[in-house]
Amino acid sequence: MAEMLSAEDWKREATRLTFRTQAFIDGKYVDAASGQTFDCVNPATGAVIAKIAACDKEDVDRAVAAARRAFESGKWSRMAPAQRKRRLLKLAELMLKHAGELALLETLDMGKPIRDSSSIDVPAAANCIAWNGEAIDKLYDQVAPTEPNVVAMITREPLGVVGAVVPWNFPLLMGCWKIGPALATGNSMILKPAEQSPLTAIRLAELVLEAGIPEGVFNVLPGFGETAGQAIGLHMDVDAVAFTGSTEVGKYFLQYAGRSNMKHVSLECGGKTPHIVMADCPDLEAAAKAAAFGIFFNQGEVCNAGSRLLVDASIKDAFLAKVVEVGKRLQPGDPLDPKTRMGAIVDKTQLERVLGYIEAGKKEGAELKMGGKRARAETGGYYVEPTVFDKVDNRMKIAREEIFGPVLSTISFKDPEEAVRIGNDTIYGLAAAVWTRDINTAHRTAKALRAGVVWVNCFDEGDMSTPFGGFKQSGFGRDKSVHALSKYTELKTTWIRLH
Ligand code: NDP
Repeated sequence: MAEMLSAEDWKREATRLTFRTQAFIDGKYVDAASGQTFDCVNPATGAVIAKIAACDKEDVDRAVAAARRAFESGKWSRMAPAQRKRRLLKLAELMLKHAGELALLETLDMGKPIRDSSSIDVPAAANCIAWNGEAIDKLYDQVAPTEPNVVAMITREPLGVVGAVVPWNFPLLMGCWKIGPALATGNSMILKPAEQSPLTAIRLAELVLEAGIPEGVFNVLPGFGETAGQAIGLHMDVDAVAFTGSTEVGKYFLQYAGRSNMKHVSLECGGKTPHIVMADCPDLEAAAKAAAFGIFFNQGEVCNAGSRLLVDASIKDAFLAKVVEVGKRLQPGDPLDPKTRMGAIVDKTQLERVLGYIEAGKKEGAELKMGGKRARAETGGYYVEPTVFDKVDNRMKIAREEIFGPVLSTISFKDPEEAVRIGNDTIYGLAAAVWTRDINTAHRTAKALRAGVVWVNCFDEGDMSTPFGGFKQSGFGRDKSVHALSKYTELKTTWIRLH
C-alpha cells in the first residue's frame, strides 16, 4: 500500500481521519469517570492531534467488572474453539480492510514511517490474530497414562480476566501479540496502550465488536502507567498481566502481583542485543546492512535492536565503514512520505533521553563515527540522526543501558570466546546474532549466548510459529507461537475413578 500511495495521498487521508478518543468498556465508548483527558501528540510535528480519555482506578474497576461478567457468562469463554476461530479470523479480515487507516493512526501517533506501519505493523498484527484463531481448534488436551480404572484428563482452561499493558514502539502489534492468544483461549481482556500511542488500540475495539466478539470481552483503557497501569497490576480480580515494556516497570508488575492476588505475570522487557560479526563472516555486505537496519529500523525503538555491534578486531574498520555507508542512506524524514525509512522519536522525553545517551557516550570516550545530533528541528518534531559510536567499552553506559533510539555502540573483540563473554555481559537476554561461515562456531556461539532468540547469518527474522521473549532481566514468558497460548491458560487435572 505504501508503494501505491504518495506522501500527498497519505497527508490527504490524514486530514480526513476522525479519531476515537474514549475508553472502550463493556462494548461502548465512554469518557473516563473523572472526565479527564490527556494530549495525544504527533511526534513528527509536535502538534496535539487529539484529547484522549485519561482512565484511572475507577475505570479499571468498571472494565474489570465488565470483563468478569463476560467471562462468567461463558458467552466467549465457553464458546466452541471453532466459533472463536471464526470471529478471530473475521477480526483479522476487518483489520486488513481498515489497514490504511490503522497504519495512518499508528504513524501519526508514534512517528514510525508509514512504509513500515502499512507493510509491517498492520499486516503482522492481523496475521497474529488470524494465526491464533487458526491454532485454537487444532490443539488437543491430554489423557494421562494411568491405571486402567482411572481416566485422568489434563485440560487447559482460560485464566479469566487478563490485563495487557503494552508500550509505544509497536502499539498495535504488541497489543495483538497479547490479544491473539488471550482471546483465542477464551479469556476476557483489558488492554492499556501506552499514553504516547493509544489511537490504534481504541479503534481496534470497535472492530473486535464488529467481528462478533461479545461485549465486555475486550476493553481498552487509555491512560497513564502510574494510574491505570498500576490499578490493573494491583487489581484483585485480574487473573493475569501480560506486559511489554521496560525492565524497571516489569519489576513493578511483579511487586503488584505480590501485593495483590498473586496474579500470573509475563514480562517482555528490554534488551541490549549483541550483534556479533566474526572474522569469517560469509557476507560482509549483508551483515553490514543487517547491522544498520538492526539498529535504525523503527528509529532504534525496538526491544531486540542490535544496539551492541561486536566485530572481530581484524575486520572492524572495514566493516564499520560499510555500516556507516548504509546508515547514511537512512536519514530521518517525514513519516508520511513512503520513501522515508526512519521517522520521528516517539516524544520529547524520549528524544532528550536519546540525546543524553549520545552525550554520555562522548564523555566516556567513545568515538562518534556518524550522526549524534537532533535532526529536522524546524518541523517541531523529534528526530535524531542515525548515530554510530566506535571504540566502545562494554562497561560504558551506552553499552549497558537500553537507549531505545538510533544509536549503535561498536565494540571489538579478539576471538569468538571473547565475543561470547562480552555478548553475555549484560543484564539482558532478549536476542543475539552471530555471523560466521563455520558451522562449529555458529553452533557453539548460538548455544553459549544467553538469549531467547539467536540469529545466525541473519538478523531480526522469525514468524508467528516461533516464540519470542527473553532470558535474564529481559523477562519471562513467550509471545507468539503455540507456546504463548500456555501463558493464558491454567492446567487442570480431572481424575475420574471408574466403578
Ligand atoms: P514503560 O515500561 O515505562 O511503559 C510500558 C507500559 O507500562 C506503558 O503502557 C506504560 O504506561 C506502563 N507503565 C509505565 N509505568 C507504569 C507503572 N508504574 N505501573 C504500571 N504500568 C506502567 O516504557 P516507556 O514507554 O516509558 O519507555 C521507557 C523505556 O522502556 C524505553 O526507553 C525502553 O528502554 C523501554 N521499553 C522497552 C520496550 C520493549 O519492548 N522491551 C518497549 C517500550 C519501552 P504509560 O506509558 O502510559 O505511562
